[in-house]
Amino acid sequence: KTFPGDDSGNLKPRQTPGMLYSKAEPTAVREPKLLAWSNDLAQELGIQKPTDEDVNILGGNRVTETMYPYAACYAGHQFGNWAGQLGDGRAITLGEWQTTSGKTWELQLKGAGLTPYSRRADGRAVLRSSVREYLMSEAMHYLGVPTTRALSLVSTGDKVLRDMFYNGNPQYEQGAIVMRVAPSFLRFGNFEILAARQEIENLRLLVDWTIAKFYPHITGEDKVINWYKEIVDRTASLMVEWQRVGFVHGVMNTDNMSILGLTIDYGPFSFVDSYDLRFTPNTTDLPGRRYAFGKQPSIGYWNLGCLASALAPLFPDTDQLVAALETYEPIYYQKYFAMMGNKLGLGEVKPEDKELITEWEETMARIKPDMTIFYQLLIDLPLNTKEEAEVVAYFANSFYTEPDAEKSEMLINLIKKYTERLQVNSISRKESATRMRAHNPRFILRNYLLHQAIEELEQGQDQLFKKLQAALKEPYSNKFDEFLVKRPEWASQKAGCSM
Ligand code: AMP
Ligand code: MG
Ligand code: MG
Repeated sequence: KTFPGDDSGNLKPRQTPGMLYSKAEPTAVREPKLLAWSNDLAQELGIQKPTDEDVNILGGNRVTETMYPYAACYAGHQFGNWAGQLGDGRAITLGEWQTTSGKTWELQLKGAGLTPYSRRADGRAVLRSSVREYLMSEAMHYLGVPTTRALSLVSTGDKVLRDMFYNGNPQYEQGAIVMRVAPSFLRFGNFEILAARQEIENLRLLVDWTIAKFYPHITGEDKVINWYKEIVDRTASLMVEWQRVGFVHGVMNTDNMSILGLTIDYGPFSFVDSYDLRFTPNTTDLPGRRYAFGKQPSIGYWNLGCLASALAPLFPDTDQLVAALETYEPIYYQKYFAMMGNKLGLGEVKPEDKELITEWEETMARIKPDMTIFYQLLIDLPLNTKEEAEVVAYFANSFYTEPDAEKSEMLINLIKKYTERLQVNSISRKESATRMRAHNPRFILRNYLLHQAIEELEQGQDQLFKKLQAALKEPYSNKFDEFLVKRPEWASQKAGCSM
């Protein structure tokens, strides 16, 4: 397949000056088969369950007359360096869907074939990565974390080459396509590309359009700075939410940062099992660990700095932008302490609670218990635990390694301070527990579970997949306690790239 402007007949990475996107038709696949469909999302959109004929659309074999398929052009900072033009290399937007309430949604196929931005890659996605995005984006939604959604998962019947030198042989995997859905997939990088090309008029047009369409409450002379402030606020919220549930994105490049503050572009992500601030799920992020669990909030700030630079040409000087960027840290901490207060079941977070929360964080990071299990145990902590040894024993189910004397003491001291704090709580113990249950997930889509479900799916079995699909819809309930267990020994928490 060739693109206009490429007279050699070879597909080359293409520069598209002046363009915010390029037309890109999905490439047909052999045999599209529907593997999963998100009923609830479909209902929200007012889309009926696909017929066999409709599956052709979800697989990229059919484009209807009202669709206008395109790939977006964007740039980005990758791992701290300017990477220049990138763009949708394997994502093709089919168009915009309007619900009866007037809300619009961008419908996008991921893995639908080459686009002008595919560079040296194939434009395809494998079953493995597609299942991961499909399940995880839905899991995040039900956790209450802002995210793009996934409507369908389709296997293509095509084989996709992923590792040319796998054990000396080329390794082929099953191809798949996810239809993902969001109000918009615009990224910081969509603005960075225009600033980099010094297309200031296009930059202004895109900013105006984005504000009018997605931030309609922002108007007036100062709208651009007020818009940027809201992006700062939304990004801080998103980082707090990731820390709340223990989500590690893994590739927080600016081309993977949503302008709407959504979790976007699910790649080598993972929840933490053990509370390890240095954990990164991305093998290409070693040894620097730029995108490790504990660094996400500060990377959010760094990325907002890139966005501010891209918007700078729209301002007479950078003072306002810098001032807005510098509100990130106080905003983040304000939201962070409120979130921790909820996790710990505090009626309110008083200034003196910040010390307890800071000590809490330090102790967790030292002991590295299973984050999910630890907080679930905390909800039911008996407040009359007198013996110090009882405290350690009480949390034993959450430990991956038995805490030594020093760590045990840290935990005992912490729990002592915590129970003292609960004695003067402004809400009842019952209310406190209710609050904790609403903010601490009991089911998380652990990486090893995803891994098992995918292995089974590749063998044509969907039992675990179906079970996970049900469990992720009720992450705060105890209905799926069969999954409330520590990560097994064989599945150590280490970086494992899953693109
Ligand atoms: P990511 O790190 O996954 O966000 O990807 C960075 C860039 O590489 C994006 O512009 C993607 O569209 C592109 N890309 C990733 N995988 C592929 C693929 N298989 N084919 C074409 N482009 C890809
Ligand atoms: Mg990306
Ligand atoms: Mg990706």
